[in-house]
Amino acid sequence: MEKFSFHISAEGIALGKLYQVKRANIAPQGYIIPDQEKEREKKRFTEAVENLSVSLQQLAVGNQIFAAHLEILKDPALTESVFSKIEGENKNAELSLQEAQEEICSLFQGIEDDYLKGRTTDIKDVCSRIMREMTGLSDNPFDGLEKGAIVLAEDLFPSDTVQMDLGRVIGLITRYGGPTSHVGIISRSRGIPAALGIGDKYPILSHGDFVIMDALNNELIINPDESLINQYRDKASGYARKRAGVLKESGEPARTRDGKQIHVMANAGSVDEVVQAMEYGADGIGLFRSELLFMQSKDSFPGEDTQFTAYRKAIEACKGKSITIRTLDIGGDKSLPYYPVEKEDNPFLGWRGIRFCLDKKEVFKVQLRALLRASAFGRLKIMFPMVISMEELRAAKGLLEDCKQELDREGIGYDKTMETGVMIETPAAVMLAEELAGEVDFFSIGTNDLVQYTLAVDRTNRRVSHLGNAFHPAVVRSVKMIVEAAAKYQRPVSLCGELAGDTGATQILVGMGIDSLSLSFVTVPEIKQIIRKTDMNRGRELAAKIYQKATIAEVHALLEENKNKIDN
Ligand code: PEP
Ligand code: MG
Repeated sequence: MEKFSFHISAEGIALGKLYQVKRANIAPQGYIIPDQEKEREKKRFTEAVENLSVSLQQLAVGNQIFAAHLEILKDPALTESVFSKIEGENKNAELSLQEAQEEICSLFQGIEDDYLKGRTTDIKDVCSRIMREMTGLSDNPFDGLEKGAIVLAEDLFPSDTVQMDLGRVIGLITRYGGPTSHVGIISRSRGIPAALGIGDKYPILSHGDFVIMDALNNELIINPDESLINQYRDKASGYARKRAGVLKESGEPARTRDGKQIHVMANAGSVDEVVQAMEYGADGIGLFRSELLFMQSKDSFPGEDTQFTAYRKAIEACKGKSITIRTLDIGGDKSLPYYPVEKEDNPFLGWRGIRFCLDKKEVFKVQLRALLRASAFGRLKIMFPMVISMEELRAAKGLLEDCKQELDREGIGYDKTMETGVMIETPAAVMLAEELAGEVDFFSIGTNDLVQYTLAVDRTNRRVSHLGNAFHPAVVRSVKMIVEAAAKYQRPVSLCGELAGDTGATQILVGMGIDSLSLSFVTVPEIKQIIRKTDMNRGRELAAKIYQKATIAEVHALLEENKNKIDN
């Protein structure tokens, strides 16, 4: 028996056998090529990038890590570097990619900023996936992973969390990395105890060892005796009961100190996520991104029955709670493999969201019919994305009405009281909020886009993304206008952008009059706890002060001051 301590990345207790991840050696066959093979090598690289881009696009929906991977993949600097090695140095694609990766990583390593340094993991992950695409070696290092395993690896990449069946994993140990890595975030969200970055201790462990991982007291015990195992089994079940208690409490409604219920909902893109959201106590699904279903389809738009089945499953997984499904929001940074569109200079200002749907009515109507049919199976609401005008809203509602009439004629049932809402995510929608409120049942503020369009900051452009601040006074005042417009018609306002999951923003959002928040299911319990400590009057006073501020710094200072008051 051996024992050592480690730094906890995710709490919990796990007892089980180690499964050591062994990566197939896909070290590139590097060699010099004759001139006539240069074009072929460039093509191999480009095709690999294109293939990978299709799968990353799906993963990137609502996931910032994979959105960042997509950015790395599309970054012309990577392609230029690879091409210059093929062109100028007659190196084959694999060798060129490996050298390009090393050069880019060493540039990042030299930077002081920890965040940027951390990007090297993402670059390595993306490059190794391109390499696998090129070599055709589909190594799945998790083949043979059995239920109840503690995964042991040198490093775990974000793409591993997609390949690995997390349902079988009860613990994670890595030599490198740390709590802020993607794996760290995932393990906390799934309640999987983790020791990430154990460094020198790594060689002490081997595949098949039985270990006790006490990630509450940072102790790892290797090959313990029977009595110790029994002792820790008791401890583990005690911890499991406690955790179940926290999740159960999360299942209760969240009311402010003075009694206002704030609905804490979850964002989802798949039935799996809906199921998890319910386990985490979400009050429903505030944003179901339907585009994932469209992106997963291989060679055509998903048909009405396919969509109906998928929506019905998602609705039923909500077990009586409400679910708001957003109609197809394609375009911008999301494309469909089977429907290539002409390259746009400004995709975020281009053919996306409701614009696409209103132009492709035959596609849109299939979705609306599927949604209506599914509405008979639970509490479905639908909402339209990227609206900029009354004309768009009326056209979308008109098509919905046409579909209802069709279904009536066909004798197919649907929920006749289904609510229809609109996402407020363009400055135009903010300006028209009053008129929009008169013609919809609810608003959902998409702060990711609202920030991007209000501040003219492309949300995927790393050079300017730091300017995309949701507490910019212009954004804060926009939210005020939205809430006031909705109040005139007693329409509820939800907020479903990243800001909803920012624990530092909860109190002010509640004070501003937001009725429900929709965020990653992981944060639902924490946000509910904050709401329970919130006082509406204090929140309102704070909001009133914040509306007066003209600078981001002043807004932040007020929030900071307020945070201290709440903690007390
Ligand atoms: C938003 O814009 O805030 C939003 C929730 O939608 P998405 O991130 O999918 O564009
Ligand atoms: Mg949006």
